[in-house]
This record gives sequence, C-alpha cells and structure tokens, in this order.
Amino acid sequence: MAVKHRCKVCGYIYEDDPKNAGFPFEAQDDSYLCVVCGAPKSEFEEIRTRD
Ligand SMILES: [Zn+2]
Repeated sequence: MAVKHRCKVCGYIYEDDPKNAGFPFEAQDDSYLCVVCGAPKSEFEEIRTRD
C-alpha cells in the first residue's frame, strides 16, 4: 500500500511524476499549484494504492 495525492480536478497524481521523486507532497508549500491544471493544493486528495 502506498499513499499518493491526486488532483481532484484533472486526475494528476503527484507521486507518479518522476520530477517529484524524493520530495513528498506534504513538503510542498501551501501555494503549490497542480502543474497540469493549476488547481490549488486543497484540491488534492489522498488515495491509497496496492503497490
Ligand atoms: Zn490538476
């Protein structure tokens, strides 16, 4: 099981983006915006995967 963060607006998954490796979502500043659609950090939700 792994916890990931997904943008509720466009479906972008933060942890699946290679350029975010080693930099957890929680460590992002509150001003972080989705790189795909520009949604604010508050529009991300936690998801759990089986891998
Ligand atoms: Zn997005």
